[in-house]
Amino acid sequence: MRRALRRSRGPVALHEPEFHGRERDYVAECIDTGWVSSAGKFVDRFEAMLCEITGAKYAVATVNGSAALQVCLRLAGVGQGDEVLVPSLTFIATANAVSYALGTPHFVASEEGTLGVDAAKLEAYLKEIAELRREGCINRRTGATIRALMPMHTFGHPVDLDGLAALCARWRIALVEDAAESLGSTYKERHTGNFGIAAGLSFNGNKIVTSGGGGAILTNDAKIGARAKHLTTTARVPHKWSFLHDEVGYNYRLPNLNAALGCAQLEQLPGFLLRKRALAARYQEAFRGVAGVRFAAEPAHCRSNYWLNTILLEAPDAAARDAILEALNREGFGARPAWTLMHRLPMYQHCPRMDLAFTEDLERRIVNLPSSAALADAP
Ligand SMILES: *Cc1c(COP(=O)(O)O)cnc(C)c1O
Repeated sequence: MRRALRRSRGPVALHEPEFHGRERDYVAECIDTGWVSSAGKFVDRFEAMLCEITGAKYAVATVNGSAALQVCLRLAGVGQGDEVLVPSLTFIATANAVSYALGTPHFVASEEGTLGVDAAKLEAYLKEIAELRREGCINRRTGATIRALMPMHTFGHPVDLDGLAALCARWRIALVEDAAESLGSTYKERHTGNFGIAAGLSFNGNKIVTSGGGGAILTNDAKIGARAKHLTTTARVPHKWSFLHDEVGYNYRLPNLNAALGCAQLEQLPGFLLRKRALAARYQEAFRGVAGVRFAAEPAHCRSNYWLNTILLEAPDAAARDAILEALNREGFGARPAWTLMHRLPMYQHCPRMDLAFTEDLERRIVNLPSSAALADAP
């Protein structure tokens, strides 16, 4: 596999996009017709395709996934000083979206099975620190309202959505999914992104499908869908010629050029998913019986898009992990560790958090392997 790939294209990247569909035709159509910016038929088509793929009733395309998550949190009622529960084991955009929405990230633990938020540990923690009052779920230690929980489907593996949705209902906390990594992943046959008030997707260059840069908000609530569109299009009141804006909105609409690329990519999603599954099966087979490592397979009742293939070292050993990463990268394999945990970053180290000892162990055990769909075709 390695020899064949390196002969043809050099080092094996962690994740690379491929453009073998109608990308050129669609982008050329934007240029030829002059529809390159924030209006145009590809943006509408992109949204319609997302509804069809995910089963969500409404999709609103945005400039990137971070912007989508920021607006999702506003739609969930997050404002100045509110706390939002987020995993510490996530990409920076999850925590940053909370900051953009003027909230405070409150870091919670992840579990080994899904690599996402641990519902049982979170429940026990809330019992210890939170109390339900008329105005909502209050953190007794800080006095702030815990307004929302934003779990993330790590590397494409769905979190324990039943457990977390029940917890949110019990504690009157809004559920917003960071589904940036999980396009094509389902939980009990329902597409991720359909389990809370709203969800954010990303179409950044390294995601399973890319629009160059881009994102989307998914929701099944007509009012929230309309408000998502309003907020992301400068809160302009629709009118033939007047410019009336009725609140502080954002210029977050996805340009038609990006949507054109995105449409061509979405057409290929079923094929990408099949090939990524085939690649994951090959990795799983290759690591079967290898002592000291375990391939992270999709959780029960879930279908993962296997965006990034992951192996877990049996024991938390950062030195061993780094030696493995060194060796793989030396051989031309773009393997990577997990992200530095959010509560270790300078701007987030003083945020509230639960006991994260297990998450710290987990982080030291993760190695992500090259996962481009094209690798599935290697001999
Ligand atoms: C990619 C990603 C996002 C969104 O990133 P953008 O680059 O802003 O599109 C958000 N959360 C997670 C977990 C991601 O991996």
